[in-house]
Amino acid sequence: MSKILPVFLPFASCGNKCIFCDQQAISGVRAESDLLLHAEKQIDKWQTYSTDYDEIAFYGGNFCAIDKNIRISLYEKAYNNGIKKIRFSTRPDTINNETLSEIKDYNISLVELGIQSLDNEVLKENKRPYTSHQAIKSVEDILKITDCGVQLMTNMYKQSKYSPVDDAAVFSKMGVKTARIYPTQVLRNTHLNYLYEQGEYIPSLLEDILVTAAGMYIHFTAENVKVIRMGLPHEAEESNEITAGAGHKSFGDMVITLVMLLYMDMGGRIKYSGYKKAGRELFSENFNKYEEVNKNNMQEICSILRSEYLENSKRFIEGQAAFYADKLKNKANN
Ligand code: SF4
Repeated sequence: MSKILPVFLPFASCGNKCIFCDQQAISGVRAESDLLLHAEKQIDKWQTYSTDYDEIAFYGGNFCAIDKNIRISLYEKAYNNGIKKIRFSTRPDTINNETLSEIKDYNISLVELGIQSLDNEVLKENKRPYTSHQAIKSVEDILKITDCGVQLMTNMYKQSKYSPVDDAAVFSKMGVKTARIYPTQVLRNTHLNYLYEQGEYIPSLLEDILVTAAGMYIHFTAENVKVIRMGLPHEAEESNEITAGAGHKSFGDMVITLVMLLYMDMGGRIKYSGYKKAGRELFSENFNKYEEVNKNNMQEICSILRSEYLENSKRFIEGQAAFYADKLKNKANN
């Protein structure tokens, strides 16, 4: 596994503030005006712990909107320090001919795009300054040069339960390499918090978010897209900045357990105990006779689940998945 040196640049060159976002709260890193110095301090600090990082990752903010001279200085600093690979996250509207050439010239290994949704109304209401068409084109353009990752959200303001599953279906088929799935939680210092207090934003229930995320996970994994994060970072879960919205520190584990329970329910002969041993409890009769599941099986399992349950997201969300999500929610409460 590649050893990554992480650099967080909260709100760097965002230009506007998306209604749900408070990057300082979720990363625990304070925004600073001198971005180059801020990044260099983090690189130097990490390099006092170790000098053999394979890759550097610039997270937070809108990397390709940062002043070009700063971006180039950061690439050069990384390469001069012996780091062989660079990845960053940025917003789809910053992908253009100039930034695409830079991605090529500096041999960027992975570009993560904060897509969040492909619903144009949701993008507009959440103050994301691009359209679904631009988002898809950005992914296509990056994939002609290097690897691409996507970040998607669930239960955003004005977003339906079904659309994130459909979004995942679209990107899973495009050949992206990684995906992150973030449920919306209300952070104190955001416009979403205001909408919540006004009764304009109603947070979703944990069981509903689990089902949506499970549908997304199935689409991605069936196409061999690596889901590298589900749920907000632990720093956010542990802070007291979340005012509303269901989340869970074991969110990712719960989603995978839900996927496995669905497979066991349709007769899959695996013994996956998962979150709080849910599989063992719900399928105790034949549990010990079945095969252990391992990571190599996941793509096949998700392909089967996709054809069994996911020919449309509505049927999935309102069917069997809801039953097991409810069981997991009850376990979380006990
Ligand atoms: S979600 Fe991204 S683009 Fe929006 S305010 Fe936060 S860091 Fe900036």
